[in-house]
Amino acid sequence: MPADQMPNRALNPGDVAQPGTAATGEGPCPDCQGKGSVGGQACRTCGGTGIVIQGVAGG
Ligand SMILES: [Zn+2]
Repeated sequence: MPADQMPNRALNPGDVAQPGTAATGEGPCPDCQGKGSVGGQACRTCGGTGIVIQGVAGG
């Protein structure tokens, strides 16, 4: 399978890159503090996962 057709999951608004991208990593969503919901509704930033892909400093 071509690398540009990998079945990656859709990015959430809070994600900066696809999972596995160099210099990025999973972290708790800053909007819902990793809960996955805000005010009783699914957090849009992380898509309800509570996790966002963030840039990682250093390296
Ligand atoms: Zn969130």
